[in-house]
Amino acid sequence: MKLLLPLGLFVFLAACGRSGVNNIPEYNNAAGTAGLVQLCGNPNLLGRKIGNVDGQGACGIRNAVSVEFVSGVRLSQPARLNCRTANTLADWVEDDAQAAVRKLRSRITEMTVLASYACRSRNSQRGARLSEHALGNAIDIGAFTLGNGEVLSVENNWGNGRKGGVMERLHKSACGPFGTVLGPLSDRFHYNHFHLDTASYRSGSYCR
Ligand SMILES: [Zn+2]
Repeated sequence: MKLLLPLGLFVFLAACGRSGVNNIPEYNNAAGTAGLVQLCGNPNLLGRKIGNVDGQGACGIRNAVSVEFVSGVRLSQPARLNCRTANTLADWVEDDAQAAVRKLRSRITEMTVLASYACRSRNSQRGARLSEHALGNAIDIGAFTLGNGEVLSVENNWGNGRKGGVMERLHKSACGPFGTVLGPLSDRFHYNHFHLDTASYRSGSYCR
């Protein structure tokens, strides 16, 4: 690993010099961005374009993107989303989520993604309605890693102390930008993540 690291860095720097990514200021210092492109016309979204995803039945995404960086925040695994949801995620991270963690005197640098596109029913329960995940409208986030090394985990920190307060603020800040926000208080399926989706309801956002 020690031998590979400098070589990897060299390859990254070499590749970076030729790519357009280098022209986006936020990503100049972000490792692992080589080969990634701006998505959905949004300079805060970096990843790969996928095109249409055709799933079984009603499942699928038109003009899907695979997002790897959101407003400079690395996703632990690429998230397959539609552009509306990817843009909402970028705006939320930039405007609301970073503000929610400000109290900890650091910034979010990585988000642990537990799920994005998946052709399945709600909570994978038989007979339940189609999940927003099946349409590219949803992302599940299990943890937020800060630049100072602190980790805010839904499973470990929700409801407890200083980090718990910040997690509540994060949850609340997503309500509005996203049409549905579910956390540990919603049901037993969400004990370890925030479910964020862009489905819209006439009654406004549903957040629990
Ligand atoms: Zn979900």
